[in-house]
This record gives sequence, structure tokens and C-alpha cells, in this order.
Amino acid sequence: MIPNLQETLKTAYEKKEFLETILQHLPFGIAVYDFSEGRTIFINKQFSETYGYEEDLVDKELFFNKVYPEETDRDFIKDKILSDIASGDPDRMKWNNMSITAASGEKKIINTKNILLTDQRLVICAVLDVTHAEELTAENQRNKINYESVINASADLIWSVDNQLCLLTANNAYKHFIKMLTGNMPLEGATVLLEEFGEEWNNKWKGYYNQVFTGKQVTITEQLFNPINHQQEYRLVTLSPMYDAQHVPFGIACYSKDVTEESINQLELKAAQEKLRKIMDSSLDIICAVDASGHFIQVSAASERIWGYKPAELTGKYLMDYVYHEDHQMTQSRAASVMDGVIMPGFENRYVRKDGSLVDIEWTANWDANEKIRYGVARDVTEKKKREARLIESEKKYKSLFENNPVPLIIWDCETGDILDCNEESLLKYGYAREEFLSLNLRDISLNEDLGILEELVEKQVSGGRINNRVWRHQKKDGELMYVDISGHLIDYHGKRASLVMLNDITEKKLADVLLNEMHEDLQKHAKDLAISNGELEKFAYVASHDLQEPLRMISSFLTQLEKNYKSLIDERGRKYIEFAVDGALRMKHIITDLLEYSKVGKTGIKKKLIDLNVLIKEIQILFRQKMEEKNAIIVVDELPVLSIYKAPMHQVFQNLIGNALKYSREDKPTQIHISAKELSDHWQFIVKDNGIGINEKYFHSIFILFQRLHTKETYSGTGMGLALTKKIVESMGGDIWVESTEGAGSVFYFTIEKEK
Ligand code: ADP
Repeated sequence: MIPNLQETLKTAYEKKEFLETILQHLPFGIAVYDFSEGRTIFINKQFSETYGYEEDLVDKELFFNKVYPEETDRDFIKDKILSDIASGDPDRMKWNNMSITAASGEKKIINTKNILLTDQRLVICAVLDVTHAEELTAENQRNKINYESVINASADLIWSVDNQLCLLTANNAYKHFIKMLTGNMPLEGATVLLEEFGEEWNNKWKGYYNQVFTGKQVTITEQLFNPINHQQEYRLVTLSPMYDAQHVPFGIACYSKDVTEESINQLELKAAQEKLRKIMDSSLDIICAVDASGHFIQVSAASERIWGYKPAELTGKYLMDYVYHEDHQMTQSRAASVMDGVIMPGFENRYVRKDGSLVDIEWTANWDANEKIRYGVARDVTEKKKREARLIESEKKYKSLFENNPVPLIIWDCETGDILDCNEESLLKYGYAREEFLSLNLRDISLNEDLGILEELVEKQVSGGRINNRVWRHQKKDGELMYVDISGHLIDYHGKRASLVMLNDITEKKLADVLLNEMHEDLQKHAKDLAISNGELEKFAYVASHDLQEPLRMISSFLTQLEKNYKSLIDERGRKYIEFAVDGALRMKHIITDLLEYSKVGKTGIKKKLIDLNVLIKEIQILFRQKMEEKNAIIVVDELPVLSIYKAPMHQVFQNLIGNALKYSREDKPTQIHISAKELSDHWQFIVKDNGIGINEKYFHSIFILFQRLHTKETYSGTGMGLALTKKIVESMGGDIWVESTEGAGSVFYFTIEKEK
């Protein structure tokens, strides 16, 4: 063996011996843990004594199990210690006031520190049993228990931190709260700014804590998410500085109370208040609250529109300052009534707007005696007032229109028939004084027989129908009967369903109608009688003229025989008589012929034909050729129409008129006849003008009557039936005939015929 080696070994052994001796006698425990071997390679006496174990301490797992029998604590501490060791950070290798359980079951407090010898892959663990060093006096102990019991009795979180922001102490509530948030129990002596809270949160809290170190108390409301019940939680936190004997802040006492319920209540209250404000502000009227002294507490947004002031401008202001001065007294007394408990619906006053103008306000107000607040709703009634004024004006107009109307007007109750109002004219009409009339019912002025219609009418009115021109019989006060034509409308009369009716007194018209009806009936009867007698007359004329022809022919023929066969036997005188008799018989023949013609007018069975009147006149001219030559007569014919007519009667009319014009011509000058036609709206008019002897005006009508002649047969021959026949024909053609004439200057005969429709 090399002496040096031996020397060295000896020295080493002595050194080890020396070291071991020192280590064994140190006042604190030492254990050396070898990483490479994965076991504790040295434990001194103090170490074993502190824990009360010897061999058990060698195995890491066994060690933790024994020293920390409570599983939750163990896991936490184990993880922490191992992670601190793994970090290699010497600052994290120190743990103070750790509570351990010794083999005897005794709880001990230790301070421990690890020294890492990385190169040697060793950890030296120093443990100092501070149980006794930290042992408190009996009173201190009681105080501690007392203090711990008190803070643990609180469900609120209580903790304190030192100026390193490490946890000094905490109650159970705090510990469990932190565990709930992070999953781990907080450790006294460890920082309270845990990683799990996140950087933002920790910075914020660092700020709060630092503020407290400046000597201030900080109160904050924190909002955080509770991961257990998944709800937002509100906590009121108070952080107060803790001072040492030298009044230097050495830590912070912290208190946190769950105020979730209050906060939510407060939030809900705020939301409800906001909602109420919105409702108030959505009102077109001003809604306000006024205190007992008359100052606005709250005013809704409508104040800006109605008064020109924003709610903020009015809050706290004296209400009366905005009331128009003339209305002060009235407003004060109304306000007093409101405060006496009278609910005041609809009292009106005037307010002065911000721009100085006045606004009419209608108030509804009541008084809350408990709160001593008047609540009011103020409505802008400017427009309403204007409308009311217009309504009054128009009502006045209508009233005057009603009163002064020349037509009788009555208003009656639709349901009862009571007369409610009437105008002056109806009083005059019915002969009643106003009071009398207004005490009557519709039934009082109606006839009993009309009551049925009346009931029907009332029913119709009640169901909203309109009364349309209905004739009723009403009785005046003096009993006189009156026919009234009634028309009316349904109206609202002071809240009653009423009828405003217009009465038209049609008594006279009604009576005139009756008279007219009677006359009409008479006339019809006469016309019928006349038609019968005319028919009979025509029949008679026909029979007479027809039957008279035969005996007349016999007289004429025998007179001719007498003259012819007994001429020689009869003297001059006798012959003259026979001549008269023959002449008489001849005239009688003409009369009979004309009469027969007359009776036949209108009884033609022939159909109408298109007749050119120019041709018709030419035919007549041929008939009168000889006579015209005698009279040296000229007939001028204007263009005449072609018409659809019965030819024979038209021929007869022109023949008669032209015949007369030739017959009643003047001897002293040539006869001129002018024939023309004129188209009228419904008729054709024909004119036959001559330059003959003319007719005196007084005979203008009589010449058209049967047998009326102005001359003797000696002067002018004729039967006096020509114009009567002409008139009858013209009338049968829907026309008329008349004459205009000047005696000695000539006559103009006009006749018309109806146009074919
Ligand atoms: P008559 O010619 O057979 O006497 P009328 O009835 O034709 O009967 O006429 C009635 C009377 O009207 C005539 O007697 C005559 O006095 C008068 N009269 C008719 N036509 C004319 C005429 N164109 N000018 C003047 N007098 C006339």
C-alpha cells in the first residue's frame, strides 16, 4: 500500500468521521438524498428525532406517507416540494412553518430547507423542529385557537398576506375557496398570486395590494366565475394594512364577502328603475314626482316637448316657478287638496314654457302619504282646448241654425219618443208654448191610427235607421189635423240617442191632391161620356146622311120628272117653285155628302203611304183648272216635303183650303195663292195664303164650327162644313189649324200635322 494513499485514506476517514460527528451533533436534522441511487444515504440523529422514524425516512414514498398522513395535504406538499426541487431555484427550496406528523402522532412544526448539489447529484435537506421554538404561551395558544375559531366560523373569506404577498394566515373558507378555484389548498408562506389566476388577474390584485401598502384601505367589488355552480359571483373585498409596533405596514388583512345576491338585487333594481324610466319617457304626457315642498324629484322626457325644459333642468326645481302667475293660487289650493288625499283628476292650469309662451296643462295627481311624494301626469291640452273652442263655436252656429230655421225642427228621444227640443217654427206650427211642447211625447201629437207606424219608426231609429220622407198625420194643439212629411237623422243629444227631424207641412198639398184626384176622376168620367156621345153622334150622322140620300134622290128624281113631263101644265110660278125645290134638294145633297165625309174622318182602313205633297197639290190644281181660269188665279207652291201619310184626308184638307181661297177671292184683282211648308220639332206646318176678302177677327174661331158660315148661300155657296171637316181631319193627324187674316186683304190658314215617330 502506498503510504501516501494510506495517509490520504486515514485523513479522509478522519474527515468523514469528523464530518459525521459534526452532522450528528448539529442542532437541526440533516438528510442527504442521492439522486443517482434514488435513496436517502444519510440521516442524522436530529433528523430522526424530529420525525421519530429512522429507516422509514430512507424511502421517499414511505417518508411522505408517514409525515403527511392526510392525503390531500400530502399530495399537495409532495407536488410542491418536488416541483420546487425540480425548478432548481434556491429561493424555492425553503419552507417555513410546515406542519408534519411525527411517528408518535404528534403534530410538529418544522422549517426546512434543501440544498441542491447538482454536480454530486445530491440533495441535502436541513430540518429544524420549531415546534418548541414556536411554542406559544398558554394564553397565546388560547388566543390562537380563539382567533382561528373566530375566523373559521366565518363563511366569508379572511386571509392576510405579508409584504412579499405571501399568505400569512387564512381561514378555512378562504382555503376552500382557493381550492375550489385552483384545485389546490393554499399554503401559508406561499405567494397568493397563483398561476391559475392568470397574469391579468394577478396584476390587478398586485395593484390593489400595493395600494394598501401605501397605507390606504381598499374596498372593491370583484366579479368572478364560480366553476362549481357556473354562476357569476360578486364579492365585496376589503383590504386593510397591518402595522407593526413601529407603525410600519408589514402585511395586509383581507376580507371578502359574497354579495352576489345583493348585487343581483341591485342590478335588478337598477334594471327595473331603467325600465320604469323608459316607460315614463315613452309617455306623451309628462309623468313626474314632486316632493312635499313642491320640488321636482323626477320628470319624464315629455317635459322637453311640452315645457321646453329637459328633465335634468327641472329636477330639484320648484314646480310653482313654472306655473303661470295668474294660476298660482288655484294651483296651490289644488296641490293642498291632493296632499289631503283628494285624487285630482283633470284640473287645468297654465305653464310658462322655456321660450316664455304659455301651455295649457291638464293634471291628474295623487299623493303618497308614506313617501310624502306627489305623483302627477301632465297633459298638453292646448289642441284639445282649441278643439273645444271650435266645437262651442260650431255648436252655437248649429243652435242658431236650429232655432232660427224656417222649417219646423224637432228632436225626440229615439227610445221613448219624448220630445227633447224644438225650434220656434215648430211651436208656431203646433200651437204650443215651449214648456208644454217639451213635456209631450211623440204619441201625444200623433193620431191613434198612426201609432203602429210610430212604434215601427221608433224601433227603426233605435237600430240606427234613417227616417226617410214619411207622411204622418199630426194634431195641433187646437185639434186641427196636419199632414207632415218627416225626414230625420240619428244624433247624440246630451248622451241620448235622439232623432233630429225636419217637418214639412204638406196639408195644403195633400188637400189639393185630393181635389185634383176628384177632378181627374170627374174629367175622366166626362171624357168617357163625351166619347160615348161623340160616337153615337157620329153614328147618327153617318146613318142620317147615308139613309137621307135615298129619299133625297127620290125627291130630286121626281122633281125632274115633274118638270120634264108636266112643264106645259105648270105656270111660270109653279116652275119657279119646282126650280127652288130642285135647288133645295141639291143643296141638301151637298150637306148630306159633307156630313157623311165628316162622320167618316179617322175611320180609314187604308195604310199610310209616302206622298209627295208637290204632286198632291198639282192634282188639286187640275181639279180646279176651270175655276182658276175663271178667277184668273195663280197658285205659287214652295218646295213641299214627301211624307208618310194617309193620302185622302191630306188631299181633302188642301182641296178645302185652296177651294175656299178661290171661292172667297176678290172680284177686283186676280187671285194669288201661296202654299208653303215649315219643319218644326215635332210637327210639319203648312201655310195656305190668299189675297181674298179676308175674315173679321171675331170669326177666327167660329168658322171652324160645323155649319158656321159668314155669308148667305146667294153670295157664296157652301154648306158651312168645309173648315169643320178640315179641323177634324187635321186633329185626327195630331195637329191643329188656325187662321190669321185682315178683312179685305186676304187670309192665311195654318195647319200642322204630327211627324211620324
Ligand atoms: P162654306 O165655304 O161652305 O161656307 P166653310 O166651312 O168652308 O164653309 O167656311 C166657313 C166660312 O169661312 C165661310 O162661309 C167663309 O165666310 C169663311 N171663309 C172660309 N175660307 C175663307 C177664305 N179663304 N177667305 C175668306 N173667308 C173664308
